[in-house]
Amino acid sequence: MIEFKNITKTYKMGKMSYEALKGINLIIEDGEYVAIIGPSGSGKSTLLHVMGLLHKPSFGDYFLNGENIKGFSDKDLALIRTSLIGFVFQQFHLLPKLSAYENVALPLMYSGHLENKITAKDRLFDVSLGTKIYNRPNEVSGGEQQRMAIARSLINNPEIILADEPTGNLDSKNKVEIMNLLEKLHKNGNTLVVITHEKEIADRADRLIKVQDGLIVMDKNIKKESILFQKPYKKISEIIESRNTKKEKNKLQSVFEKFLNYNFQAIMTLFQNKIRSFLSMLGILIGVAAVIAMLALGEGAKISMKENLKGLGSNLVIVRPGPRKTTGASLAIGSVSRFDFRDVSSLRKISGIKNISPTINGNCQIVYENNNSNTRIEGVGKDYASMHSLIPKIGRFFNGEEVKNREKVAVIGTTVLKNLFSDTNPIGKTLKINRINFKIIGISPTKGSTGFRDQDDTVYIPITTAMYRLLGNKYFNTIELEIESQDKYEKVEQKVRSILYKNHKIKETEPDAIRVQNMQEIRETMSKITNTMTMLLGFISALSLLVGGIGIMNIMLVSVTERTKEIGLRKAIGANNEDIMLQFLIESIILSFCGGVIGIIFGGMSAYVLGLISKWAIKITLKSIILSSGFSIFVGICFGLWPAKIASKLDPIEALRYE
Ligand code: ADP
Repeated sequence: MIEFKNITKTYKMGKMSYEALKGINLIIEDGEYVAIIGPSGSGKSTLLHVMGLLHKPSFGDYFLNGENIKGFSDKDLALIRTSLIGFVFQQFHLLPKLSAYENVALPLMYSGHLENKITAKDRLFDVSLGTKIYNRPNEVSGGEQQRMAIARSLINNPEIILADEPTGNLDSKNKVEIMNLLEKLHKNGNTLVVITHEKEIADRADRLIKVQDGLIVMDKNIKKESILFQKPYKKISEIIESRNTKKEKNKLQSVFEKFLNYNFQAIMTLFQNKIRSFLSMLGILIGVAAVIAMLALGEGAKISMKENLKGLGSNLVIVRPGPRKTTGASLAIGSVSRFDFRDVSSLRKISGIKNISPTINGNCQIVYENNNSNTRIEGVGKDYASMHSLIPKIGRFFNGEEVKNREKVAVIGTTVLKNLFSDTNPIGKTLKINRINFKIIGISPTKGSTGFRDQDDTVYIPITTAMYRLLGNKYFNTIELEIESQDKYEKVEQKVRSILYKNHKIKETEPDAIRVQNMQEIRETMSKITNTMTMLLGFISALSLLVGGIGIMNIMLVSVTERTKEIGLRKAIGANNEDIMLQFLIESIILSFCGGVIGIIFGGMSAYVLGLISKWAIKITLKSIILSSGFSIFVGICFGLWPAKIASKLDPIEALRYE
């Protein structure tokens, strides 16, 4: 039973307000057939919307099946609406991309009775649409669309059918058919309230109510013999309770079912707008691909650096000139800019030093027969091989005698072997370095790439040969020492400094004249550099994820505006704010997550190809995959939240009227 006690409804438009219902008192018994008439703008639809719980009254009390609806939350009202009331609209309000069956089954999602899906087909048979179950609304006639909408209003077996000009968009033949159908429902026990401005439709009802200026000005039974065909009515408290008990009993199952359904719908929607979905994914896709590729690069560099440093032993000390203080060609006082053999021989006397080797390097053109390449030449001392684990397995390293005599002998790396000798035995062969003939005496063991440089693309020659014969240099700028043990480091460092300061006539007060670093420090500096590089690359890529997120938000906002009517309809058939919010949120998460997954594949492939082309070390870690998929879900939630909130807050009636 519907009972209005002094109901008013005031619409607020900014500072203005308009009273559309001005104190309505009305009782509609269960099973009545009522027509509401009145001029346009008199308040008929408002009355019907208040009756159907789509609007709350501003004042007064509304008793539905004996219970005052005032105390119920919006969520409860949505459930009561979908359980007790079926709406039929003049414009049908069917979702164009769903089939008849899906449209009819839609309210089940919100009433929590998804198990009744099969009844959707029965309802379509009830309205003689049994042959058009899988047709979309635009594939059937206007009359059939309205029958589809009526079937939808019946899916939850409601007691009350509220129809707002149900025949307004139909021709006269269809009008009669639809009214016959509605009256059949009334005869089955439904309460039927129809708004109409057509006399012949109004005349079919048992009771006629005329509304004018927000007031009932006439209320009469036009059929004296009218009989009430009552359905047993549902108690509101029982509806709410059954939801709660159902929830408790099958909480997980129902949440899971709903979740699956939302996901399914979201995927459907995204597929229906394939190009748009793909474009909005693109930002996230590129962002994630960049994160994956960049982290793979950074990680690869880190690992290969570690590998390389491992072979060096931790007792290596490198002595270099201090930071340059020169301007132009003139040397500033207080700085060492280069070393010579006098420095090496005086350092050799320091106790605690096991090995010592000066080094010099440069890039030269190397040629063997028809093959040539531009390769790094390292001029080093005889001890360099043992200091850097470079003692050849094939052939030998040069000895002190060869260094002293500036012999033209060379030890080549494995990349040189591959490029110039196609892996044939090169020992004893002659290699031209800058047109000078060198005899190959050994092959150095494979060292791998440092991330950016292939260490095996190197030729080692005696330091003296490199200086005097090849590079034309009397000096070198690095001396490497191997100390006996780490605990001697500080003493050795002090000694090195004092000897070199003396050799170069520099005051002890100049701390930066030379740089002495041990392996530990070098390792730390290197790992700091690679960490910073990885972080920087990661940060830049994360920025593109952010841009991708904004793209998704943009599309979601457009989608909310575009689908305002759909949101209104979903609310009218029982969706609550949470349902709508979840639907849009899941859509944006799926968009962003799919973008993320494609991005991971794409980024992985790019990293692999990059590694192949550049020979840089690449390492894709599980951490980076988890990180970027997690981040893409996070972006989906963050940037989907606002549009979803906007969607959930829409007023159902205003949304339905949105053009
Ligand atoms: P009817 O169905 O009889 O044509 P309505 O109930 O739709 O009338 O509207 C009654 C009055 O309330 C009209 O003057 C209309 O302009 C006004 N009205 C309806 N809905 C709103 C709204 N959301 N905001 C402001 N005014 C409204």
